[in-house]
Amino acid sequence: MKLETQAVTKRYGAHAALDGASFATGDEARVIALLGPSGGGKSTLLRVLGCLLVPDEGSISIDSKVLPHDDDGALQARRENGFVFQGYNLFPHLTALQNITLPLREVHGMNATEAEQRALELLHRLGLENHEHKRPSQLSGGQQQRAAIARALAPKPRLLLLDEPTSALDPVVTGEVLDVIRELAEAGQSIILATHEISFARKVADWVVFLAAGKVQESSPAADFFTRPKTQLAQAYLEGLSKYR
Ligand code: ADP
Repeated sequence: MKLETQAVTKRYGAHAALDGASFATGDEARVIALLGPSGGGKSTLLRVLGCLLVPDEGSISIDSKVLPHDDDGALQARRENGFVFQGYNLFPHLTALQNITLPLREVHGMNATEAEQRALELLHRLGLENHEHKRPSQLSGGQQQRAAIARALAPKPRLLLLDEPTSALDPVVTGEVLDVIRELAEAGQSIILATHEISFARKVADWVVFLAAGKVQESSPAADFFTRPKTQLAQAYLEGLSKYR
């Protein structure tokens, strides 16, 4: 897919989380990593690209199709996407299976039998067979995050958007969730991923958008970004992170 933004601004009160962010990916970008220091605007950009938020100014297109600016249009568009956040966001009172079937029935209009079949297929694909009837509190962090990924994938989203999906997990479990994401990428799922997992981004991303202070500082093929970052900010960022890895 080709992702393009022009002068996108999103404010929270007086603060511009995105401040005229412009970039374009290549035509065939499939796994796009949003990288950069905390507070730089990654999460806000991810939400704007996924139509969870409508920008105050500017425009965004995916494969030359401009994303809607009105709330109704954004609601429709967002239903075509799957989201996974840092904190799982599973419904605590529902089992893993019900967490997946509920939105399939209520949002995507599937009947109960179809929804259950699809949910079981996804839970098995993500290695959660035997855990279908557990509630989130009975699952480990990694299992909860895999259930959240299963939920996001169940309606066959065009785009899977992942916002720091491993930052609440310990290192062992992080590896388990990253393996799942890598398998999805290899199976051809289009993914946009905001992350601090640089070595992981290096393995799976084919395009990198580097953000700081609400602006896109670099937008490059991943191979170029990791070997020859163009800006000093990106160089310092990569050096700072590699020091501790
Ligand atoms: P990142 O994901 O790179 O850490 P964010 O997009 O979360 O960056 O945040 C960008 C800036 O916007 C930060 O300064 C953050 O404090 C601010 N911000 C993000 N979300 C909100 C919000 N809901 N209300 C107020 N400020 C916010």
